[in-house]
Amino acid sequence: MADTKSGRDKQARDEERRRIQRDISEARERGDETEPATDPPAECHRRGCSEPVAFSVTERYQEETGAGAVEATAFLCADHTADESPANVEDAYEGYVFHVEPVAAGDGT
Ligand SMILES: [Zn+2]
Repeated sequence: MADTKSGRDKQARDEERRRIQRDISEARERGDETEPATDPPAECHRRGCSEPVAFSVTERYQEETGAGAVEATAFLCADHTADESPANVEDAYEGYVFHVEPVAAGDGT
C-alpha cells in the first residue's frame, strides 16, 4: 500500500513549483526581463543607512568597455531614491533604461 499522505505532499510541492515557473515565464513574456523577484533587502542599499527599502532603482546602460548592456539595481529608502538620477547617460544607447519602482514592505504582503 502506497503512503498516500506523502504522495499528496509531493504532488502539492510539484504543483507549487509548476505555478512558480509559470509565473516566471509569464513575466518574461510580458517583456519583464529583470530577474524573478527575489525578496528585496529590508534596508536601504546605501552604506550606513538603515531606513526601510521603499524603491528599487534600476539603470541599464551600455558598458563602456563594449562588453554589452549592464543592468544595475539598487534597493533604496525614499530619501536616497530621491537623490538618485541617471548616472550613466553618457553610455546611453537605444535600450537605455532608468527605472524607479515602488517596493512593497518587506513582509511579503
Ligand atoms: Zn537610505
